[in-house]
Order: sequence, then C-alpha cells, then structure tokens
Amino acid sequence: MAKGIWVFAEQLGGQIKKVSFELLSEGRKVADTLGEELCAVLVGKDVAGLAASLGEYGADKVYVAENAALENYTTDGYTNVVADLVKQYEPSALLLGCTVTGRDLAAQVAQRLETGLLTDCIGMEVADGQIVFTRPLYAGKVIVKASVPDARPVMATIRPNTFPVASNAKAAEVVTVDANVGEVRAAVKEVIRVASERPELTEADAIVSGGRGMKGPENFKVLEELADTIGAAVGASRAAVDAGWIAQSFQVGQTGKTVSPILYVACGISGAIQHLAGMSSAKCIVAINKDEEANIFKVADYGIVADLFDAVPALKEEIKKV
Ligand code: FAD
Repeated sequence: MAKGIWVFAEQLGGQIKKVSFELLSEGRKVADTLGEELCAVLVGKDVAGLAASLGEYGADKVYVAENAALENYTTDGYTNVVADLVKQYEPSALLLGCTVTGRDLAAQVAQRLETGLLTDCIGMEVADGQIVFTRPLYAGKVIVKASVPDARPVMATIRPNTFPVASNAKAAEVVTVDANVGEVRAAVKEVIRVASERPELTEADAIVSGGRGMKGPENFKVLEELADTIGAAVGASRAAVDAGWIAQSFQVGQTGKTVSPILYVACGISGAIQHLAGMSSAKCIVAINKDEEANIFKVADYGIVADLFDAVPALKEEIKKV
C-alpha cells in the first residue's frame, strides 16, 4: 500500500541544505506519478520553524522530531530517530542527499531496517510503477539504471545539484513526532565552523579546482580570484592535498568529495579516474591543462590547452567585462 515518498531534510545550524529542496522538487513529480504523498523528515533541536520552507518546495507533510540531544548530527541519535519513524509510518521510499551526513545516515538506517540502499544516484524517474534511479559505477565509466521492487522502503542517496529546485508555494501539514534518540555513544564536543564567503563545495553551482599543476600553495590565490569572480567554490585534486597545499576538505574525488556542479573548471589536473569519480557528473566541465594529451580533455566540454597561469587570469578578466 502506498505510504509516501519521504525526503530527509538535512539541516546544519538551522539552515536546510539546498539538496533537500532539490529532492523535494523532484520527489513531487515522483509522488504525483505514483499517487503518493510527499513528506519531509526534519530532525534537530528547535527546527520546527524550518518546516514551512519544506512545504514551499513540495512537501505535503513535514514530520518534525526535536530534541536537545539532536542539536548536532550524531550517527546513533539520528539513526535511532529516522529508523524509528520509518518503522512507524512505513513510507515506500526514503531519499537522502549524497552528502557527508546523508551518506552516513542512509547506510545506518538501511542496515537497521534491513533494506537495500542505492548510493550516489544522479537521476530518478518512474517506470512501471517503480522508482528507477540512475547511478554511476566504476568511477563513472558505466551508468546503470536500477530499481528495487521488493525493498520497503526503497532507499537512495542522490548527489546535490542533480535536480533543479522548483517552488511549489503551498503550506505543508506539520506533524510533531516523538524523537526516540536512544543511546548515543559518541558526543560532539565542539563544532568549529570554517568561515568562508564561498559556497560549500558539495552544494556549489560552480567550482574552480586546482591540481599538481598549481605548483605550490601560494598559487591557489589565482584560482580563488577566478572563483570569487563567478561565485564559485574552490576544489582540489588529491595531489594538491597530499602536497599540503590545501586542506583535505577541498579534495574532490573517490576519497574526497563528490560534486555535481553546473560548472567545473579543472586547472592543472590530469584527470585520473579517481578524480573523475568525484566530478564527472558536472553539467559543464572546462579543463585548462598545458598537456593536450591529458585525460581530463576526454570528459571536458571545453578544453583550453595553455599554461594555467596565463589562462586563469585571462579568463577572469574576460568574465569581469561581461
Ligand atoms: P597530476 O596527475 O600530476 O597532473 C597534473 C597536471 O597538471 C598534468 O596534466 C600537467 O600537464 C598539468 N600542468 C602542470 N603544470 C601546468 C600549468 N602550468 N598549466 C596547466 N597545466 C599544468 N585523486 C583525486 O584527485 N581525488 C581523489 O579522491 C583521489 N583518490 C584516490 C584514491 C586512491 C585509492 C588512489 C590510488 C588514488 C587517488 N587519487 C585521487 C589520486 C589520483 O590517482 C591522481 O594521482 C591525482 O588525481 C593526480 O592529481 P593531479 O591531476 O593534480 O596531478
């Protein structure tokens, strides 16, 4: 029996992550096609005030689970609450953003519910009454379509920036539920926020990334100037991170962050498969590399064969003129 398409509404410090609005916007279409209701699950401390914004992006209903112990994300606390709610209300699907939190929570909840989990999806549609997800395999070399007809709920994590946000402008019903926090074995002692004017890497519409071709930490300034001109986030390859030029939190790739921006500008990055694994679903890839044989040009929509220290400042100046 149809019991609803659920979206985990991820929030950090009282701000809903954009990916949650994207999932609701696309989830609205899925729910309408399947004739189900679309619900958001909002977990945290003093978060009820955020419920209205979820209705604006398509939610029919918002389940709000509040508790002081849920102020910061903990695997145990959030898993206990979300798994408990799913057991109680039995939705047919649970969608989460493929973020650090979403990945962690989805795996734990799926394990708790003994259901499967489709991770890192880059598409979602309905066919023959099933939700069919698109996901890359082998670092993006193969794209598969997968559905899990027998799983209840169907669970998937979906990359940020996969779907556009669509405002729905309607009021959602808010249902306050008990937050069964249970035993939490790890405590968050301190949250240190990195102050930055730039967008968060996994949510950014545009990213300017640098690799070993940057030649040193001081040269990232060149990328930052271009990034600030177009309102982009800054990213990096593992080679740049391993060299100590930039913090690991900026790393894009298999062992870094998975990003799916509208624009990805790769500067001095060769295009190793482990890097492509984290960015190949970007809508438009621009590569700047002085080696015309570099692998990155195979996935690039636009390639500039040039020294990045000439091309990046020139690009910035041209964009400024527009
Ligand atoms: P290089 O491959 O050395 O390429 C540098 C490029 O810069 C070259 O193409 C060169 O032509 C160009 N260049 C140099 N100077 C200039 C200039 N002045 N102007 C323009 N172009 C210039 N890598 C990741 O990025 N992310 C990951 O998450 C990741 N995970 C990994 C996991 C595993 C298990 C393993 C084994 C590897 C992983 N790697 C990852 C490493 C990956 O294999 C590559 O080593 C790495 O991506 C290379 O980074 P790079 O492209 O910056 O450096």
